[in-house]
Amino acid sequence: MTVESGLIATTGDKTNLLGLSPKALIDFFESIGEKKFRATQLLKWIHQNGVDNFDEMSNLSKSLREKLKQVAVIEAPAILQQLDSKDGTRKFLFEIGGRGSFAAGNSNAVETVFIPEGDRGTLCVSSQVGCSLDCSFCATGKQGFNRDLTGAEIIGQVWAAAKSFGQFEDGANRTVTNVVMMGMGEPLMNFDNVVSSMTLMMDDNAYGLSKRRVTLSTAGVVPALDKLGEVTDVSLAVSLHAPNDELRNKLVPINKKYPLAMLLDSAKRYIEGVPDNRRKITIEYTLIDQVNDRPHHAHELAELLKDIPVKINLIPFNPFDLVDYKRVSNNALRRFQDILIAAGHIATIRTTRGDDIDAACGQLAGEVNDRTRRSARYRQASE
Ligand code: SAH
Repeated sequence: MTVESGLIATTGDKTNLLGLSPKALIDFFESIGEKKFRATQLLKWIHQNGVDNFDEMSNLSKSLREKLKQVAVIEAPAILQQLDSKDGTRKFLFEIGGRGSFAAGNSNAVETVFIPEGDRGTLCVSSQVGCSLDCSFCATGKQGFNRDLTGAEIIGQVWAAAKSFGQFEDGANRTVTNVVMMGMGEPLMNFDNVVSSMTLMMDDNAYGLSKRRVTLSTAGVVPALDKLGEVTDVSLAVSLHAPNDELRNKLVPINKKYPLAMLLDSAKRYIEGVPDNRRKITIEYTLIDQVNDRPHHAHELAELLKDIPVKINLIPFNPFDLVDYKRVSNNALRRFQDILIAAGHIATIRTTRGDDIDAACGQLAGEVNDRTRRSARYRQASE
């Protein structure tokens, strides 16, 4: 690599320690002839103290710090923009592709949303630049797909958000207490990087969140969901949106490959494998006016889920350009919820947050340098 400016010198061949799981960090230190315990020290510096400068790591010798500077960096994606909603929700736009890449015309950026609610602070994290699944009602899907995020770019959203709140210092007014992998992208299509980032979220030397407070949301990539159960036990959310295959095929096209029965079986196996029998699968159901919000849909959904430990989260559809769908009416929303409850289910309504800054579910778009030509097709079709 030719180093043309100080900006580029931080990327390139050096290892970015930010995204390394605790195990990968041990391997890294062993590979440079250092002891394992250095990994714990580094984890704490990076993820508990928010330090990205080796010179500040006072319990490392000067020579080790110099050695690290030669081979490694700690680099989170830069915050290009930060928007605050009147309800306290904050949306971040992160530059993906290295410092200065956005200005240089590589227009990839992902969005991350912080949602405060009482003592809780939920960070909604992105896993891909765009998404390849193309669900018919999702803004991210309409943008096409560019690439998977690296581990550093995923955990970097948590790190940078926490740092922007002063969470690494005493007296922070906001704290990330929960993470949901519900931003841009399909987390199970970027399996390794998502799993290693979630490991960091839960590690006691890093963010120390309990597995109940880290949620992976999927549109239903069944083989990857089966594999997930072998490596982690985070909370699971399944984006269902329809009570039968015919309708789901239209809304969530990956259903043609992995139909409902297969998906629900896999989700059930996942939750049965979790050593905590109070846990439930969250079912996400986005309600779209006249499309999937009729009483017969609610009855069919109640029946479909009757033997599975679920809580159903109803999400009013959030409109955006490029699609004609409309938000469910308040009456239909309440009726839908009542039918589920009468059938013995737990059914809650997700309040829309941050819609004044386009930060609500399904509105995340960022900037995707689309490699699929899908975004151009949708733009043409809507003209
Ligand atoms: N690909 C994963 C992660 C994205 S999560 C998944 O599908 O689960 C984003 C959540 O918001 C999903 O439940 C998604 O279906 C929902 N959603 C997408 N577009 C929406 C919209 N326009 N209005 C409301 N919810 C939407």
